[in-house]
Amino acid sequence: MKLSRGFWERNMAAAGLWRRTGRLREMAQARGAWPRLYSMSPAFADVLKLPQKQLTKIVYPLRELAQYLVTDTGPGLLEQRLFDPSLEDIARAESVFEATARNRIDYLSSAVRLDHAPSLQQPEVCFIGRSNVGKSSLIKALFSLAPDVEVRVSKKPGHTKKMNFFKVGKYFTLVDMPGYGYRAPEDFVDMVEAYLKERKNLKRTFLLVDSVVGITKVDNIAIEMCEEFALPYVMVLTKIDKSSKGYLLKQVLQIQKFVNTQTQGCFPQLFPISAVTYSGVHLLKCFIADITGNLK
Ligand code: GDP
Repeated sequence: MKLSRGFWERNMAAAGLWRRTGRLREMAQARGAWPRLYSMSPAFADVLKLPQKQLTKIVYPLRELAQYLVTDTGPGLLEQRLFDPSLEDIARAESVFEATARNRIDYLSSAVRLDHAPSLQQPEVCFIGRSNVGKSSLIKALFSLAPDVEVRVSKKPGHTKKMNFFKVGKYFTLVDMPGYGYRAPEDFVDMVEAYLKERKNLKRTFLLVDSVVGITKVDNIAIEMCEEFALPYVMVLTKIDKSSKGYLLKQVLQIQKFVNTQTQGCFPQLFPISAVTYSGVHLLKCFIADITGNLK
């Protein structure tokens, strides 16, 4: 018998967003198609051939945005770049994500409960975000140099949502957590909370926020959960190709202010990305390589 409600359920109910959908029994999983998103070469060697302006846009989107800041918007709000690797560092990190005979990158397994999760010693990172935020697209972009990896998606209503584990050679494990929404089933809540609270080798949680939409009520609850569990987490802003520069700048500044004033555990630097143009994706790969101890 379930005695107490978890963090997610309590807070969703408080926000008037919780609807109990009952325990889902179905174990079937839908396999979605790969979205046809990629419009340019994901290889960093090709990015390096771009003219300077375009290169900055693709590799350092925050740096590019900061150029458009007028001084009275708040000096240096986007200038605080704690993680600012060189192009050489980013190029080195690329090999971690490139599948070769010696660096096998594979889907490992799925789990609906923490005790079904593979027991691995290597560092782990996980990706969370509300449904439709662009999580599968980002994970596919991260694995674009490992074309055999199949990022599974289970989006059909009524299908059990799972945690999907991907092994990136001997370097780290990446976990794709089920997308949340106001109809998050009980199984999902139990699974996500237990995982975030108890997973020993979890090094960093990447919380995805849609840059067009901004931080929603549901995102807020996820943020509060990360704060309550004292998790080190990072905010990734998705779909940055969809907005005009002005709108994107406004959104990024708003979210940056939120992070600076309302959070403790969130890394103070945002990671804006696009799974369409690959903007920010190489930098994010480099960050993951760094925090998992693989940027040598
Ligand atoms: P998930 O539910 O979080 O896994 O979201 P998906 O990755 O399936 O993306 C949801 C929708 O947003 C799909 O229609 C994608 O094609 C679209 N999408 C995802 N990432 C991007 C992006 O970076 N740019 C644009 N323009 N669309 C995106």
